[in-house]
Amino acid sequence: MKHEKDSLTVLKIDGMHCASCQAPIERALKEVPGIGDININLADREVYVEGITDDEILVAAVAGAGYEAIIDRDESPEAVDKANQDYYRQLMRNTTLALVVGVPLMIFGFFESGIDATWTTLRWFWLAMAGVTLGVLVLAGRHFYIGAWQAFKAHSATMDTLIALGTGMAWLYSITIVLFPELVPEIARHVYFEAAAIIIGLINLGQALEQKARGRTSQAIRRLLDLQEKTARVVRDGEEIDVPIGDVLEGDIIRVRPGEKIAVDGVVAEGQTNIDESMLTGEPVPVKKTEGDEVSAGTLNKTGSILYRATRVGADTALARIIKMVRQAQNSKPPIGKLADIIAGIFVPAVMLIAIASALVWFNVGPEPRAVYAIITAVTILIIACPCALGLATPMSVMVGVGKAAEAGVLIRNGEALQTASQITTMVLDKTGTITAGRPEVVEIYTIDGRPEADVLALAASLETGSEHPLAEAIIDAAKQRQLDTPPVEGFEAIAGHGVKGVVKATEVLFGNQKLMQQAAVEIDPTSLNRSNEMAEKAWTPMFLAANGQLAAIIAVADPIKQDSIEAIKRMHANGLKIVMLTGDNERTARAVASQVGIDEVRAEVLPDDKKDQVAELQARGEKVGMVGDGINDAPALALANVGFAIGTGTDVAIESADITLMRGSLHGVADAIEVSRATLRNIRQNLFGAFIYNAAGIPFAAGVLYPVIGVLLNPIIAGAAMAFSSVTVVTNANRLRLFTFGKESS
Ligand code: ADP
Ligand code: MG
Repeated sequence: MKHEKDSLTVLKIDGMHCASCQAPIERALKEVPGIGDININLADREVYVEGITDDEILVAAVAGAGYEAIIDRDESPEAVDKANQDYYRQLMRNTTLALVVGVPLMIFGFFESGIDATWTTLRWFWLAMAGVTLGVLVLAGRHFYIGAWQAFKAHSATMDTLIALGTGMAWLYSITIVLFPELVPEIARHVYFEAAAIIIGLINLGQALEQKARGRTSQAIRRLLDLQEKTARVVRDGEEIDVPIGDVLEGDIIRVRPGEKIAVDGVVAEGQTNIDESMLTGEPVPVKKTEGDEVSAGTLNKTGSILYRATRVGADTALARIIKMVRQAQNSKPPIGKLADIIAGIFVPAVMLIAIASALVWFNVGPEPRAVYAIITAVTILIIACPCALGLATPMSVMVGVGKAAEAGVLIRNGEALQTASQITTMVLDKTGTITAGRPEVVEIYTIDGRPEADVLALAASLETGSEHPLAEAIIDAAKQRQLDTPPVEGFEAIAGHGVKGVVKATEVLFGNQKLMQQAAVEIDPTSLNRSNEMAEKAWTPMFLAANGQLAAIIAVADPIKQDSIEAIKRMHANGLKIVMLTGDNERTARAVASQVGIDEVRAEVLPDDKKDQVAELQARGEKVGMVGDGINDAPALALANVGFAIGTGTDVAIESADITLMRGSLHGVADAIEVSRATLRNIRQNLFGAFIYNAAGIPFAAGVLYPVIGVLLNPIIAGAAMAFSSVTVVTNANRLRLFTFGKESS
């Protein structure tokens, strides 16, 4: 099937379970023409490919790198659950098989090992056991050997290489002893069949436990997927029929009854109802919808039965875009994770060299039986240094962290945004619509020379018909409430950051801030100026109206502060952030708002085009800047900031543009994003540290540094257990992040 532009293909690659197998796959996919970003997620063994191409080409490319890819289409939670369950069971079967053979052999080995050079029962027994353990390795460890072989063919080495080499060497050495005991002195004739089997068993066990823990990490996505309705009742040829959601077309008329979910995005065509949109917007009160109002997929119809016309279906609905974005983000890697991958990639060949070096040292200067020591240390090093946990450390935490954020209505675009958000030092907040509700209302009209209020309001409203500014809406609403006529305007002009002008009923009208008056040399008498200052002190925005060059009125507009802005800013302070408010509004009004909500620094009267420069200036001071805006005239500043937060409502989110989108219109989302990103990065660092220490610190012990001191060598079985345990530790630690609660953090 042909994909559309910007489309995303998910490839499931089961054999890809280590950090080092991803490099050849990535390389192969990059060579496919038309491919954009490639994101590999080891935690889910999935590859996300962006761009236009055929499925078959992608599968072929992956096959070229030695792996089998399955195009993942069925993403229903049930199918995912079942696949995960199956995989878990298979790993557990492998574990059982390997341990059932390995453990009794180990116990037996404690008592009977020395192999005589004559063909005694014992020797025959070990020969038989060589066959049995070989069977176990093939049955339970097949995936490691195949993986290693594929890597070898692709001229690379992966974790599978280490496991295959380690266990393979143990087995080959043992069979050599059985077949040619004369080659080594009698005390050295110990076989390691059981070690090979037990190591394979333990590594399977580690992967099984990992798989179990993983299942719990993807709850956020499941919750979003569960919002999606499976069928829709479409009216076709006058009949209402249930069709699968995938078959709904744009323009279809759909019936929803009370208690049912909206299936696709649309516009109400008939009837009225109340719809619970809390899952998308966080708004707890159901919203009233009548003809012409938009409805969103995933929201819940509460009271009435309506017909609506589908406007966006399939992957285009807001819900589908949100799900896609969360999945992509969960599967993308922050820079810190990419670094870990590079290290893991170098690790494997390095470990192989260390193993060879250690074997050479033991063989040349070690005590007798040299051959045994050389082999055992090499096997132990190969097994203990397997960087499995290193590869898991980042993706597991990102998955949990991004999911946790999504549950709080915070959509983080990718791993990089997550990491940068954790480093923000200064948060720049736009005033209108961010700190305030963005729904200004006219609160006072002061007129000069006894002009009637209605007159000036009508003039202002006439002008504002041409403007899209929130302030314009306030003026128009006020005029509508008083049922005023708004005469037509000629020569309308909007002056960004200043106001509007035009000719109404042969009068030249100017409406806007003090700067606009100054530029047009309109005189403001002291009484009026006083009046306007008083308005501004109350956090209102005074706007001046001039008619034919004479000041005629001041109209004050109030934009209430969002209830929770104060609390949210407190949280940001508690997280050690410096808060800067940026606004085009006048200095006095801005300061009045700032003092109410607790802002550290105010930058007022900033022209729309200059907002970006303010961000740049903060960055030049060495600050990592987060910028929160409604995205209307803040887009350039949002783009320049280290992290741009778009404050929107989930139903009409511009989710593709911002680094972080807040589905709820509350500043608490910003604090949530900071806290969860910091917690996630902390978790990743713990994981990386733990994994690295495990792997790196294990090597000297495996190489036998303790031998000269206390005369013991690390048993290869212990190495296998340690390796399995390190992955489980990482996954468990990442899962701990699920217990993270918002608002409990401080810097
Ligand atoms: P912000 O995005 O912070 O609200 P703007 O740059 O859009 O700032 O506007 C700055 C100021 O310019 C407003 O506070 C207002 O005084 C004036 N202004 C801008 N547009 C209009 C308009 N359409 N009508 C009246 N005043 C306006
Ligand atoms: Mg604005």
